[in-house]
Amino acid sequence: MIVRTAEGLFCEPGGFYIDPWRQVERAVITHGHSDHARWGMQHYLAARESEQILRHRLGQDISLQTLDYGERLRIGDVHVSLHPAGHILGSAQVRVEYRGHVTVVTGDFKREADSTARNFELVPCHSLISECTFGLPVYKWPDSGAVRREMLEWWRSNASENRTSIIYCYSLGKAQRVLAGLDPSIGPIWVHGAIEKMNGCYRQNGVFLPECGKPDPEAIKDARGTGMVLAPPSTDQSPWMKKFGKTSRAMASGWMQVRGRRRNRALDRGFVLSDHSDWDGLIATIMECGCESVRLTHGYTAAMVRWLQEKGIDASALETEYAGESGADAADAGGNDP
Ligand SMILES: [Zn+2]
Ligand SMILES: [Zn+2]
Repeated sequence: MIVRTAEGLFCEPGGFYIDPWRQVERAVITHGHSDHARWGMQHYLAARESEQILRHRLGQDISLQTLDYGERLRIGDVHVSLHPAGHILGSAQVRVEYRGHVTVVTGDFKREADSTARNFELVPCHSLISECTFGLPVYKWPDSGAVRREMLEWWRSNASENRTSIIYCYSLGKAQRVLAGLDPSIGPIWVHGAIEKMNGCYRQNGVFLPECGKPDPEAIKDARGTGMVLAPPSTDQSPWMKKFGKTSRAMASGWMQVRGRRRNRALDRGFVLSDHSDWDGLIATIMECGCESVRLTHGYTAAMVRWLQEKGIDASALETEYAGESGADAADAGGNDP
């Protein structure tokens, strides 16, 4: 019922695309990351909680219809509904029902609960089209509460040595998740302008985030040494960063599970924190949704397809133009301006 075309994933009986990579008339968007929500569609349909993010990134005047999670809409010959994906604010899985056959497109998803996105919902289906960003057994996430405590410990210890703490994180999703876990009693918090804009979208949707200082030169001087700075990875080594004096630099990402990634960036610390499902979470979702077939859109699809086929599951890779966490990093990083 959903096929890959040159424009994207196309639902023929509904006449719409899901996260298309070329300009089309009707696009259903799973979430605001730039490899899934692209500019130039004539009409957009997305979850209500993603409205501010999409308008911010794609233009205030886009033609956008929103749905509450679970609300059903008839489009052409199909019924469409959106269900929480647990990935970032407003992220949704798309459920498409056509003559009793249900297909679910996960977009990006994360099974673990956090305060900045609605909890992932398992949606039973006949066919599953899933992301596979971290589809290797080596990706097994530690408890995020423990990661948060490590982060705060690291911040305290840097502050005691008069070093500003810097955590690189993607401006949409990861930054807010890190921020929500910070303890402002340790020191002042700054965020890069690209992150601040996204924070506004979260706050408008009732997500609690600690207050952040405006990174103007005077304020930076005052709290150098004890502060915590959140910035997109592209700002590493930028002139803006030099204003923070002596620093300790870390990154929060699922990729930090693999030591080489941290060494490549010459970081002091790597915090394993991902907005995606790990290997076990991907498998659990594929098994528990009851699907008869699964197609994997982006990430380490080959390893996962092989593993599933060995278990007798009808699995295949579906080539798309979604980028995964590293691609979202480059595209969502924003400029160097605070
Ligand atoms: Zn994403
Ligand atoms: Zn993605």
